[in-house]
Amino acid sequence: MPFRDIAGHRSILTLLSRAVMRESFLPTLLFVGPNGVGKRRTAMALAQVVNCEKPVSSKIDSAYPTAGRKSDTSDVGVDACGQCESCQRIDRELHADVLLVASGENEPIKIEQIRPAIEHSSYRPFEGRRRCVIIDDADKLTLAAQSALLKSLEEPPSTSLFVLVSARPDTLLVTVRSRCPQFRFGPLTPAEIAAVLVRSHNYSETDANITAASADGSLKAAVDANTDEVSRARDVAVRTLLALAAADSPKRRLACAQVLVKKEKKLDGAIKDRDLLIPRLRALTSILRDVGIFSVRGNDKVLANADLGDELQRMTRSYDSSRVIHGFSAVDRALYAVAKRNANPKIVANWLVFQL
Ligand SMILES: [Zn+2]
Repeated sequence: MPFRDIAGHRSILTLLSRAVMRESFLPTLLFVGPNGVGKRRTAMALAQVVNCEKPVSSKIDSAYPTAGRKSDTSDVGVDACGQCESCQRIDRELHADVLLVASGENEPIKIEQIRPAIEHSSYRPFEGRRRCVIIDDADKLTLAAQSALLKSLEEPPSTSLFVLVSARPDTLLVTVRSRCPQFRFGPLTPAEIAAVLVRSHNYSETDANITAASADGSLKAAVDANTDEVSRARDVAVRTLLALAAADSPKRRLACAQVLVKKEKKLDGAIKDRDLLIPRLRALTSILRDVGIFSVRGNDKVLANADLGDELQRMTRSYDSSRVIHGFSAVDRALYAVAKRNANPKIVANWLVFQL
């Protein structure tokens, strides 16, 4: 997939594209940022453009014009054609010069996997122009594997390119990090995710917007999500916030907590309370964020849940900015407690309804 088809990250892509054109990029790079936002895809796109048989001149952000910004020739870079034999082989992970190192789930990347990668980088390119080693989830490299890699990162062979991809770069050895300039990938916006869901995954615009709104900036999370589940989680979140806006007693608040963890037998089956609550909490986060935006800017196109205009308007009457901010951080704490600390979902829900 060429740079131009990657969702978001326009400034990083422009930088890489221009560096490739000027042949000024460093051969050891570290792509960091949350899971599922396109780091590995970008690394593959970089491997593609440096090996493409017919690279095209390209202005990465031309598809996303920014109002008031004049065209600037310094923005022009180079991109892969996406069509030639080399591009296609890299897409299918069959190119002899591009090696992707990845681990199985919960498996470390051992020195036995890294030695062949180091050897791979030391040969002259076989069919392309540059030998690329992309290490996905590089934080899973064992210490021995990282140490073995150090020399190659320090003095990479002239026709090689190393890209380390990681969501937890702080667990890498300082010596590894210091040899690789970092490119920091942020979460994607709901609009960027929704556009990909419509374009490449046959989503309707409504389903795409609902799914993207709860994906926490991760395209992977959006693609993996079950649209019906996400949509129902959002319904529960809306009902909860509207009910809490009118709840004038602790008893009514606790009734809202029950709604938040309530299973619908037919639809939710044997799902665990935790797995039921997490998407509902994500939906609460997304809606509260929108309530905050709505109260300042009205029904703006940056809203993740723009189709909920009426509900958002009703909520702005009860949720002023300090209530939104307090609620947002409470939901964030609840998400952390349930998702990361394995807290009891019912206890968390009971606590949360007194914070919103
Ligand atoms: Zn090509």
